[in-house]
Amino acid sequence: MTHGLASEKEARDVAEQARETEWEHPSFARELFLGRFRPELIYPHPPPDLAEEARAKPFLDKLKAFMDKVDSEEIDRTGEIPEALVQELRDMGAFGIKIPKEYGGLGLSQMSYIRAMEIVTSKDGSLVALLSASQSIGVPQPLKLFGTDDQKKRFFPRLAKGAISAFALTEVDAGSDPANMRTTATPTEDGEHFIINGEKLWCTNGTRAELFVVMARTPDVEKNGKSVKQITAFIVDASMPGVEVAHRLRFMGLKAIENGVIRFTNVKVPRENILWGEGKGLKLALITLNTGRLTLPAGCAGAAKQMLRISRKWANERVQWGQPIGKHEAVAQKIAKMAANTFAMEAVAEMATALYLKGNYDIRLEAAIAKMYNSEHGWRIIDDTLQIRGGRGYETAESLARRGEKPIAVERAMRDFRINLIFEGSSEIMRLFIAREAVDHHFKMAFDIVKPESTVKERLSAMAKSTPFYLTWYPSRWVNSGRLRTFGEFGKLAKHMRYAERNTRHLGRSIFHAMVRYGPKLERKQAVLFRAVDIGAELFAMSSACSRAMMLAKAGQKEAIALADTFCREAELRIDEHFRNFYGPNDENMYKLAMSVLRGEHAWLEQGIASGDTEMGQPAGEEAESVNYGESQRVMAGV
Ligand SMILES: Cc1cc2nc3c(=O)[nH]c(=O)nc-3n(C[C@H](O)[C@H](O)[C@H](O)COP(=O)(O)OP(=O)(O)OC[C@H]3O[C@@H](n4cnc5c(N)ncnc54)[C@H](O)[C@@H]3O)c2cc1C
Repeated sequence: MTHGLASEKEARDVAEQARETEWEHPSFARELFLGRFRPELIYPHPPPDLAEEARAKPFLDKLKAFMDKVDSEEIDRTGEIPEALVQELRDMGAFGIKIPKEYGGLGLSQMSYIRAMEIVTSKDGSLVALLSASQSIGVPQPLKLFGTDDQKKRFFPRLAKGAISAFALTEVDAGSDPANMRTTATPTEDGEHFIINGEKLWCTNGTRAELFVVMARTPDVEKNGKSVKQITAFIVDASMPGVEVAHRLRFMGLKAIENGVIRFTNVKVPRENILWGEGKGLKLALITLNTGRLTLPAGCAGAAKQMLRISRKWANERVQWGQPIGKHEAVAQKIAKMAANTFAMEAVAEMATALYLKGNYDIRLEAAIAKMYNSEHGWRIIDDTLQIRGGRGYETAESLARRGEKPIAVERAMRDFRINLIFEGSSEIMRLFIAREAVDHHFKMAFDIVKPESTVKERLSAMAKSTPFYLTWYPSRWVNSGRLRTFGEFGKLAKHMRYAERNTRHLGRSIFHAMVRYGPKLERKQAVLFRAVDIGAELFAMSSACSRAMMLAKAGQKEAIALADTFCREAELRIDEHFRNFYGPNDENMYKLAMSVLRGEHAWLEQGIASGDTEMGQPAGEEAESVNYGESQRVMAGV
């Protein structure tokens, strides 16, 4: 059932072509997957930039005061953000936070930007979507990274004044897999313009945007005798003839998000609106998302803090069975976990941003881990908060207010939060992206040794190439190469740093063993690879939490140590569990069952229910029949 969609190989080729293959700068997370614990990369914690904090303060104070008075219930109920509010945000410079001052922006850093987004997310999902789609992925970010001077002069001043912008990549058939992109940009005969035709789906801010970054297919090029798909990024002005909002879309949460299907019909765009270069669009999107992804984890931490505050107050206030509910152990356990995880989430988000700001550091894995980790942990925190609030958690804030209770909007927070696990790279795609890099080094070094089709000559040559590396690398993943570090400077947290060091080596060995065990088939073992990714993510979170706790303790916030300690104890239990089940004794059985479910062999289980409004008229399994489920799905799309 391909419907003319790109084959698996084409999808992989497009993703690989856009992938950044070189590592010019160090990365703590990359080293983790190679089994090398390099605490010096994250400790001491990069110090706060006090001058920047002072510069950002007036704006952040203004933003906070603005958010305190915003009626988020009204925005949620009406599904609209009033123009007057948007104008107020424009006037305070909230659409040009990172745009350099010379172009009229606030000229603040990524750290100040994420702090601003944390404030907004802690109260209103629709407003954060408006501000962050504009600035994390919309025109200003790729313009800053890849724009020419001329482009910067043309567009930055408009954006700084509050021209809303949007990022248009997704299409009906191109979700996680951009190889299916259908929007085209055809050069005019004189080559001075491109004519864009196509339709973009779920484009945030699309219904209100003045400027778009649009990804479109430009003509394929020949490379080594093969035709290679080209995706190019264009800045498109909404006022250009042929740009049209086809539908405004509505969702489970983010009720007032300005999201739509945007149609481009013969839109004539000048060549000078290409960002970076022809054929570089997908790479541009991925690099933009590397920093773009730093925002969402900070927003998730902001939401988690709000949930912690709600839970703390309610667990003290609400008395049932003779005690405040917070004293019942089941609730207390949730509160402890929530506080420890909120601390770790902020540590992860701030560490990733601080490393990015430090420069000469490759942030792509840390940003991906932060996005995946904080969205998933944040979701659990919201779920626990809803549970602690009981029936009131499920009731809307408006309904609570109508019967005289405090309008605490956990129900809305839950609806607004859920999308974080899907957009800007779904959890599964983030794990694939991280796994791709985790195994890359070994695949490059030893792929030809383990590949069954390799000739003897290829095998020998690969062995000659990789033997010197593995001769030293492998044994030192078992012992701490004589430099047994005690991490005494971490005090109470030292044992966790030792655990992280030991288990980083364990992770490196395990990934190597998995490659030897499965050879090239490892690519298809998502369950195994994802456990390796989750271990790496936990190790990064633990190390970030310890590093941040030490920084805070030195500055007088000694309580941070207890939070980091509790977080690490829990993370260690999760890591141990992942290692215990690394090869998932039930993985194969589960996969087999899923294939038989998809073939419709268990459609009998779906009997005895109402037809509802889904596509029920069709017998279960009919769709599945034309698909080949005999072979496992390949995993390394990596976008
Ligand atoms: C509210 C909202 C706002 C959005 N804003 C924007 C925007 O501003 N600009 C924009 O361009 N896009 C935007 N998107 C699109 C969003 O980024 C996509 O929804 C996302 O990329 C996933 O694509 P998809 O929904 O088509 O899922 P699919 O790619 O169809 O995936 C469906 C499921 O399968 C999983 N999956 C897919 N491939 C694999 C694989 N190889 N291995 C394992 N699992 C896999 C996915 O993780 C997911 O769980 C937005 C979407 C929403 C809902």
